Amino acid sequence: MNAPQRSVPVLPSSRDALLFTPGPLTTSLSVKQAMLHDAGSWHWEFNDRVRSIRERLLAVAGVQRTDGWEAILLQGSGTFGVESVFQTCVPHEGRVAVLSNGAYGERMVLMLQHARIPHVVLRTPEDTPNDPAALDTALAADPTITHVAAVHCETTTGILNDIAALGAVVRRHGRVYVVDAMSSFGAYPIAFGDSGPDFLISSANKCIEGVPGFSFVLCRRSRLLECEGRARSLSMNLLDQLKGFEKNGQFRYTPPTHALLAFEQALNELDLEGGITGRADRYRRNHRALLEGMQRLGFRSYLPAGVQSHIITSFLFPADPRFTFAEFYRRVAERGFILYPGKISQADTFRIGNIGRLFEADMRAVVTAIAEALDEMGIRP
Ligand SMILES: *Cc1c(COP(=O)(O)O)cnc(C)c1O
Repeated sequence: MNAPQRSVPVLPSSRDALLFTPGPLTTSLSVKQAMLHDAGSWHWEFNDRVRSIRERLLAVAGVQRTDGWEAILLQGSGTFGVESVFQTCVPHEGRVAVLSNGAYGERMVLMLQHARIPHVVLRTPEDTPNDPAALDTALAADPTITHVAAVHCETTTGILNDIAALGAVVRRHGRVYVVDAMSSFGAYPIAFGDSGPDFLISSANKCIEGVPGFSFVLCRRSRLLECEGRARSLSMNLLDQLKGFEKNGQFRYTPPTHALLAFEQALNELDLEGGITGRADRYRRNHRALLEGMQRLGFRSYLPAGVQSHIITSFLFPADPRFTFAEFYRRVAERGFILYPGKISQADTFRIGNIGRLFEADMRAVVTAIAEALDEMGIRP
């Protein structure tokens, strides 16, 4: 006999389940409402808004076009943005060093394999940040390495890599620095100075709290102009994408118009919250409320506190043999809270994100739902 199951609501109401995931995220009602328009992708009014979004991204990052910075928008999810940098920038005689301690570092390795771009991988365990000293040794030993790629917050676990320390090494050796800041841009201040990234990639549906549809690359214009003639891809050619914006204000191919309207509203709401500082404060409070609640229930987090970000947290499964993630997930989802499975190879974990339109009260509510689900399953973690 099956008990009737409540389905996850599908109507675009404020009663959608809350997403405790690393993106797409729960967005505000006003961000969703901004999409209730059809914009002509060639029309001056829409192109003005695209130009404004590009300017505002530079402002959020704290850099200026007059200092040589560009913001380039590209159709597709975050992965497309990262791949476009490799496809556009690495010369035929180039070689990329990838720092990896999780799935997104490994995804960069896959991209390089597919593009047949020579590369080396500097791995650390999933609970250990990238090692700047190992990078230093590798760059000193191999002058053929032209580019270094790192992930800021490795969303696999929630670990934070020290991109400034890595950047100082990259700069000292005079190589090009590529940073996947997908899940951290907007949630942590990032220094674009001397040891900062030459190319930083993030996407619409992470900490800016827009909806999925495009990624964006912040880069030094001079570094991008150097890449003329290198591109291995037509649609993922970042330099041609920039030239398109500069020629007629347009995306080269159909833009995600609705996602761009939503993103503009998301930027308004980021400003209202006090920019990155304000948003970081809310995420930090969310993370603290979550950790306190989960620790009270007896859960242990996978990462040591010193390397844990305030983006997403991996929790170890309770030792109780009656625990299954599938049943636990379903019971919590029935209460209106969407958790995220783990992605770690060495430990059984699940993840709870605290980014998106979530507040401390939501973090306490998900902890309550988790407590009730465990009670029903007869489990004490
Ligand atoms: C989300 C994410 C990506 C991109 O994932 P998409 O599903 O392509 O948007 C890349 N790197 C990191 C660190 C991420 O968190």
